[in-house]
Amino acid sequence: MFGFLKGLGVTLSQLPRKKVTLQYPDVMPEWPERFRGVHRFIPELCISCQQCARICPTSCISLSGARDQNKKMRIDTFDINFEICILCDLCTEVCPTEAVLMSDTFEMAKYTRDDLYLDMHWLYENELRYEKNHPERFAAAAEAVEAAAKAADEAAPKKAGDA
Ligand code: SF4
Ligand code: SF4
Repeated sequence: MFGFLKGLGVTLSQLPRKKVTLQYPDVMPEWPERFRGVHRFIPELCISCQQCARICPTSCISLSGARDQNKKMRIDTFDINFEICILCDLCTEVCPTEAVLMSDTFEMAKYTRDDLYLDMHWLYENELRYEKNHPERFAAAAEAVEAAAKAADEAAPKKAGDA
């Protein structure tokens, strides 16, 4: 009897609390900014340095690039095999230009293994989707860059005056 009342007490104590259950997939979760979902990729930022492919512990990134007419390295192909990617985030950590980043895309159920090879067009579309869904994150980043540039501008004359 005591056990029953104890259990009932726990149940009743939960009734006024805020519900945490989501009606997924009708209601999508709002993941935090540092959520490690499937990658997004910005081809024009990639310098084909191979650092992401070298650090990848499962060797699931394959890419190729070449120098353009301005002698700058440009990416030609960039594929990730999500059959073996463990979403460890190492590739985005080492990328010097932030061409590859994590996103909040997480629904990756497929009928064939081949469908888990995603190329740079899919990854770039994922970047566009991410930008569209999170304009506030890009605005905050732009504001931070602007503030840093302003602070650098303000510091420059002082340094020149000091010299
Ligand atoms: S998240 Fe990890 S496993 Fe996946 S591609 Fe990047 S480095 Fe490789
Ligand atoms: S995604 Fe980044 S780390 Fe990978 S090749 Fe391009 S610039 Fe280098």
